[in-house]
Amino acid sequence: MKTSNLGYPRIGAHRELKRACEKYWSNKISLEDLVETGKSIRAENWKLQQEKGIDLVPSNDFSFYDQVLDTTLMVGAIPERYKNVQKSSKNLLDLYFAMARGLQKDGVDVIAMEMTKWFDTNYHYIVPEFIKDQEFEWVSQKVVEEFKEAKNLGIHTKPVLLGPVTYLLLGKEKEEGFHRLDLLQKLIPVYHSILKELLDAGATWVQFDEPILSTDLSSKEQEAIGIVYNGIAESFPNLKILLASYFGDYGDNLDTVLDLPVCALHLDLKRGQGQLDNVLESEKLKENTSLSLGVVDGRNVWKNDFETSLQFIQKAKEKLGEERIIVSPSCSLLHVPYDLELEENERILSAEIKDWMAFAKQKLEELQSLKILAKSPDYRSQKLFLDNAASMERRGGSKLIHKPKVKHRLEQLEKKDYYRESPFAKRKILQEEHLKLPLFPTTTIGSFPQTQEVRRNRSMFKKGELQEREYVGFLMEKTTETIRLQEEIGLDVPVHGEFERNDMVEYFGEQLEGFTFTQNGWVQSYGSRCVKPPIIYGDVSRPVPMTVFWTSFAQSLTDKPVKGMLTGPVTILQWSFVRDDQARSATCEQIALAILDEVLDLEKEGISIIQVDEPAIREGLPLRKKDWGRYLDWAIGAFKLSTSGVKDSTQIHTHMCYSEFNDIIQSIADMDADVITIECSRSQMELLDAFYEFDYPNDIGPGVYDIHSPRVPSEEEIVKLLQKAEHVLPASKLWVNPDCGLKTRGWEETINALKVMVSAAQQMRETV
Ligand code: GLN
Ligand code: ZN
Repeated sequence: MKTSNLGYPRIGAHRELKRACEKYWSNKISLEDLVETGKSIRAENWKLQQEKGIDLVPSNDFSFYDQVLDTTLMVGAIPERYKNVQKSSKNLLDLYFAMARGLQKDGVDVIAMEMTKWFDTNYHYIVPEFIKDQEFEWVSQKVVEEFKEAKNLGIHTKPVLLGPVTYLLLGKEKEEGFHRLDLLQKLIPVYHSILKELLDAGATWVQFDEPILSTDLSSKEQEAIGIVYNGIAESFPNLKILLASYFGDYGDNLDTVLDLPVCALHLDLKRGQGQLDNVLESEKLKENTSLSLGVVDGRNVWKNDFETSLQFIQKAKEKLGEERIIVSPSCSLLHVPYDLELEENERILSAEIKDWMAFAKQKLEELQSLKILAKSPDYRSQKLFLDNAASMERRGGSKLIHKPKVKHRLEQLEKKDYYRESPFAKRKILQEEHLKLPLFPTTTIGSFPQTQEVRRNRSMFKKGELQEREYVGFLMEKTTETIRLQEEIGLDVPVHGEFERNDMVEYFGEQLEGFTFTQNGWVQSYGSRCVKPPIIYGDVSRPVPMTVFWTSFAQSLTDKPVKGMLTGPVTILQWSFVRDDQARSATCEQIALAILDEVLDLEKEGISIIQVDEPAIREGLPLRKKDWGRYLDWAIGAFKLSTSGVKDSTQIHTHMCYSEFNDIIQSIADMDADVITIECSRSQMELLDAFYEFDYPNDIGPGVYDIHSPRVPSEEEIVKLLQKAEHVLPASKLWVNPDCGLKTRGWEETINALKVMVSAAQQMRETV
């Protein structure tokens, strides 16, 4: 029996890589310093994994930015626009960073490659770009160099490669007339050269990540998998291939993978528990194929339940024998924080909750313990096992988790709690009477610039360097200024500006029961950007109002209707680590009730427009289409539960960013928000087509300018976009707003852009 790890976090235990990269980008350290930082992080990670008894330690899982971009550079798929940078830069890293971030220097001006979410995680990868005559060549030697680097430290690693099929399928065609999978035959030889070099350098195992196998594949795509791995096995009979997919089971792709002549097949037994039986019972499972059992959760922060994991391991062991078992995490540990031991502040993370958790380092220990226990015939009497069982029992019975009141409230829910009193058509009339807004009403998405000053005050307050009275006074000043400004600009529906919020999820998590936080629980989101997700450990409830003070304060300053701003239950769930002792849908419903309490309190205080943001609904979609219906049912249900209790005359808004809506438009309509604001300007209103084709019934605010850039749009531009919108939807349905919140913008450009937006709306009104 062996233990294996699929990948380790690479930002450094104290985010050393983030700091080094950012310093390098701003010319504060040299390339050598940056390279050195990477080297020491790798060495530390390898040594730690060796110490913790991992038999198959990964290499090439390190990255200065992203492993997909590493692959792009490895196979030389460098888009044409970087060719000059390639010629002029002395090292590959500068070219690499130019591709990741764009470059504006010494007359060079190239934009970055696109970035998108890695499957259903919050990690973003850089999207490969392909052209019809795409050529590949082996450029970056990183995978071989890192194997040798570890070898020099006395550690024999298992290099990790992103498999060619997943690599191609995650990319995009930048020209018409071909499919990216057509490029496979040109790509395979590059992989073969690399494998040859790895073998020459002494590698025995190579891990191929093909997570695309956890999604729906066409038969052509399945065949591609067969071509690649049969080809490799044939050319390299001595190479031990570990084929890994994760974030789900193999589903309909199982027969394809069982047919492959690979040495080991990885199974994600967290997301795909059911597949172990199918694999063990299949006649297709080859006699010399080992199974890598992904029993330790690589996507969440909870301690492993040894009882459950050992049942899986024992079952496989009985059928295959000890020799063919590898104990693993479900996926790379990239998605969890480094080390729980760094959480020393009990006021942030209590000892009781900490006892239930495991970060990356602790997960390595779990793998080792599981291997030891699985080899022992009477594991149930071993201390390792008993300690784990005791911890599981403490968690199961903890008073911190279970709140009978919350559970009771859920049980009492009825169908009507998920529906508004009257249909939209009737509500619209009542809201019009009540709000008296003009045609093409103007508003913003919520946040206004979070300047240095705002951040500095918040951080001083958090450190105790600023008294609460002073901090609140400062926020009141900011809010007042912002309301005055919106009145001057002539916005019809002002907002308070969200100056009191650090982050749209953390702000609510901090005020809800059932949430906890960490000091150092960072995970990589993209490049040098890391996030510290809240942790939902128990039943969720809202002890006291969260936003009523700020919204009412803003309303007291103006006669215009101030829009209240909340984050929706699905987004709060999606951007947190979620408890694994009940269904996600149940946790989401609890959050929905907490948000509902807030919605009702806002309404009671005279707030007649309330926006519940749900930017994460789409990214929560399961990887397989067959699972979409169930997810959408509970996700849309949670949104409706959080917003349906209001009077007909109260107007509910929702907001979503970077969304393509075609395939979920029915569910968007089912949300039944009175107004939905969406990001539309960069797609030139094309996103509206889905709403038009579907005959979307409620009102829509298609974003009229891009908030990602400081550029101020012209009035004609906005009018043109609005005319385009009016072409597909009646004027009576349209709102006018930016694409998203303005927190990353400066004041000057914000004011100018909003002024232009308001006059564009006025111009539109005159033409109706
Ligand atoms: N109300 C939030 C803001 O304006 C919405 C942010 C988002 O959609 N991501 O910042
Ligand atoms: Zn947005």
